[in-house]
Formats: sequence, C-alpha cells, structure tokens
Amino acid sequence: MCAAVAVECESVPVTLPPGELLELLGWIDIRSKTCKPVLKNAKKMFKSAVFNLQEANADQVQEFLNSFDTVLSDCDGVLWINNTAIPGSPEAMNYFRKMGKRIFFVTNNSTKVRSDFALKAQELGFIAEPEEILSTAYLVAHYLKGIGFTKKVYLVGSNGIGDELKAVGIRHFGVGPDQVKTDFKSMSPSDMDPEVGAVVVGFDEHISYPKFMKAASYLSNEECLFIATNTDERFPKSSSIIIPGTGTLVRAVETCSERKALVLGKPNDYVRKFLESFGFDPARTLMIGDRCNTDIEFGVRCGFQTLLVMTGVTSAKDLEKMRNEKTPPLPDVVLPKLGDILNLTPS
Ligand SMILES: [Mg+2]
Repeated sequence: MCAAVAVECESVPVTLPPGELLELLGWIDIRSKTCKPVLKNAKKMFKSAVFNLQEANADQVQEFLNSFDTVLSDCDGVLWINNTAIPGSPEAMNYFRKMGKRIFFVTNNSTKVRSDFALKAQELGFIAEPEEILSTAYLVAHYLKGIGFTKKVYLVGSNGIGDELKAVGIRHFGVGPDQVKTDFKSMSPSDMDPEVGAVVVGFDEHISYPKFMKAASYLSNEECLFIATNTDERFPKSSSIIIPGTGTLVRAVETCSERKALVLGKPNDYVRKFLESFGFDPARTLMIGDRCNTDIEFGVRCGFQTLLVMTGVTSAKDLEKMRNEKTPPLPDVVLPKLGDILNLTPS
C-alpha cells in the first residue's frame, strides 16, 4: 500500500491519502509532486513529464510498452560509448525486437556507412541490419539522390559520407588532409571546380583553414547547396577530454560563408519524412536518446514519445535544471540506463 504523498497544486500544498493517490495517478507527476495530466492520454501517456519509469507500477510499464510499435534509438551514449556497449543496452533493444517492435538506429555520426554501423552493432551484441541504420551519411546521399542532384559535392567530412555518395552515383572530393601552406591565401578562382553544386559538412578530423576557404568560396555561389549532417557540439564524454563535434565545423562554415546550412540529422525532422515511406505512426513511435537538445528535441518535433537515458551527454544535473526552469524539450520518461527497462518488464 502506498503511503500518503504530499503534492502541490497551484502552490497550495495538499496531502492525499493512498486511495486518492492511486485514483489520481493520471493527473500527478509523482516525482515532482506537482499536478500534471501525465497519464491521461494513452498514446502520449507521459508527455514531457520527465517521469522516472522506475517509479511506474507494473500496469503502467506494460501500458507504456504497448503504446509504441516503432523504436528509434540514438547510438553513442545510449547503446554504446566508443567501442563498448553500455551494459544492458543490447538486451533491451533485442527485447523490443522480440516484442515485435520495428527498430531503427538513428545516429548523427557521419563517419561510417550503414553496413559498417550494422557490423559494429552486431559485434556489440545488438541484432541489426544495414537497412535499420539511419546515419547522417546515408541521409545526405538519400537526400541528394532524391532531389535529382547530378553535380559534384565538395565534402568537408569523411569516407562515411563519401562512400554513401558513391553508392548512389554522386561524385565528390575533399576527404582527407588539405594542409595549410605558407601561401594559403593565394587560392585563385581557377583553383575552384566549376562542377561543384553542393558543399556537405560532416565530421572531419582533418579540418583546416584551406577547407574553410574552399567551402565558403563554393558557397559564395548562391545556387550551390549547403548541407550539414548535424550540429552536435561535442561527442559523449568518457573522460574530462572534450572532443568537438560536427556542429563546431558547421558553425564555422556558416560564419565564413554567411549562409545557413540545411541540417539533415537530429533534431531536424528529415528522418521523419524518410520514415513516412515505411507508413509508420509517429504517435506510436518511441525515440530513445541521451541528449535533450538533439534526440529529445527531435522526438518532440516529430510527435514521437521520448525516453532519455542518463548514460551520455545530458546529465542528471542538466536535466534537473531544465526541469526546474521548465526549459523544453523535456523527455516523457527517463531511466538511468536503457538496460534498466528489463528490470521493469515481466521475464
Ligand atoms: Mg548520443
């Protein structure tokens, strides 16, 4: 039997006896002890409630699991960190699949082709097929092919994007080092390739001043497309070392070109448009992520349910601050780690 719980409505403290508490569960966010219609709608049962699933009872967990057919999961910080699976994540994703959920791995990482991502996932214990990987490298190629692009791409990025472009017959160049020379400012218009019709910016460990010059110079032609994979500020941390993310490069190119990129990765809703071809229902889709400003924002924009796990970028402290300040996007439900869901489900 539940003990009485003090809640606060409109700043007026109220103490509820156990029976009433159970009756009112549909209107109370237990964790914050404030009145909210968190469970009223079965399809969006925990909308932006930051509800700790570990505090749900068995019926609520079951109802939650029954409320979605498609699972989209971010990868870094949710399923793995670098080359190590986060304990319990493979079993949780495989459990969703066993329940009959459709699975997609949605990553802003642009450094690998889909088959390499699938292989990595499989090696870490996940059941995964290349067709289930929605990486930004693939999305760039899919987008350009979809609009009938036939010119060349100047690519500030890696072979992950280059190989996906090649797979759909789009020519590109720019991958690899472009060293800074003493006369780096002497580039002339004749050094520019007139066939370039798009600049694509993804993660590029060889970023250099000449690359910024070339990207901005191609983009000075307003007919040249400007596409970015994502705007993540940094990689998930596994130590005190900060690894700048693709957003660092995108903002730099935006600054020197005085243009705004079309961003295809999360939180942009291009993935939703892509998935519409599979006939999925956004309201019955769960997005799992470790970052509020990309994964959860993406889920909210697309009308998905959202689950935040605390194994990546957004920390419990960050979340508490956002929650206290009511700063969106707030996740529907939270768990310390994805694998914890297995402890809540019938074995
Ligand atoms: Mg992540």
